[in-house]
Amino acid sequence: MSAHRNAHANATLTVDLGALASNYRFLVDRFSGRHVGAAVKADAYGIGIERAAQTLHAEGCQIFFVASLDEGVELREILAPSPGEVPEIYVFEGVEAAHSAVFSQHDLRPVLNHLGQIEAWAAQAARTSRPLAAALHIDTGMSRLGLPPQELEILMAEPERLSGIELKLVMTHLISADQPDDPRNELQRQKFADVRALFPDAEASLANGAGILLGPAYHADVARAGLALYGGNPIPAEPNQMSEVIQIKAKIAQVREIDSPQTVGYGATHRVTGPARIATVSVGYADGYPRSLGNHGFAVLDGKKVPVVGRVSMDLITLDVSEIAPDRAAVGCEVEILGGGVSPVELAAAAGTVDYELLTRLGRRYQRRYIDARTAEEVN
Ligand SMILES: *Cc1c(COP(=O)(O)O)cnc(C)c1O
Repeated sequence: MSAHRNAHANATLTVDLGALASNYRFLVDRFSGRHVGAAVKADAYGIGIERAAQTLHAEGCQIFFVASLDEGVELREILAPSPGEVPEIYVFEGVEAAHSAVFSQHDLRPVLNHLGQIEAWAAQAARTSRPLAAALHIDTGMSRLGLPPQELEILMAEPERLSGIELKLVMTHLISADQPDDPRNELQRQKFADVRALFPDAEASLANGAGILLGPAYHADVARAGLALYGGNPIPAEPNQMSEVIQIKAKIAQVREIDSPQTVGYGATHRVTGPARIATVSVGYADGYPRSLGNHGFAVLDGKKVPVVGRVSMDLITLDVSEIAPDRAAVGCEVEILGGGVSPVELAAAAGTVDYELLTRLGRRYQRRYIDARTAEEVN
């Protein structure tokens, strides 16, 4: 996205690439395995895959995970192979026969989730007459992607199904890593230890970002960190140890002085009885501000929390700023919408969702700024 896109927008989304880099280092310092890989799916959780991937790569990250083939193709353009180095890109959705040529053309590694995908990749290896790298995903409790026990049994009985495939990684995904006390973590760890031993030549990958914080027993060889890199709180019940990457601020567009009983917004869901001041701000559900925050959300103005009153509209929210000094709540004053005083976990909870969803749904109308707070530089 061009740096000048949305140059006149009232709402600004600032991405601190220095914080992204330091979050990567934070996880690397805690990781006892070989390498912390980065999940950069969904446009790097909304922060922008190009800058995110370049920053992480410069920080030493060599292994990347995306959800879909198209994301992989885009990432391969960003992280082109250079002499002596081909950043590794794994695609979680895996490969189907119709797309296998695209995978090899762009040097992408599918995560093989079922026997059909193994067959498709083995066929591609036979066509290209060279071994093709891949990861094998084994389901240990998610019942989502990954080989179920019956298919693993078939594979072990007929290992020739893997011929031509160079298994680099055997992985599984934890269902409760964000809840360290959940006994299912230990059960999954044990199951994975058993199945992982069936593929001694491959490296093992178990931990997402939260899994790294569960401790060395969960580390295996390669981690797949996502949310924590982008400043989300991997363990929501504990204080967030990650540095803040994303901040959204928006200017007050209009202030309404109310002196007689009056309602605010569509459907009259908020009623003002006494004197009040309502500030209108140019952020709405089309910008990813959840509509469920109507009468439930909050922003921060002049260091104080101010509640969202009335419904969230497509382009606007209304805040009750009666408690703020009028000169601090005037047209043009900046309100913190996300980050700063507004914890993403807390705002997400008020919306009935999680910070993952909040980040990945950020809209496209913000004025986007990339900075590096370590050097106080604009990185446009
Ligand atoms: C998205 C994803 C990750 C990253 O998880 P975080 O919780 O964001 O750290 C890791 N593994 C798989 C399979 C994923 O889909």
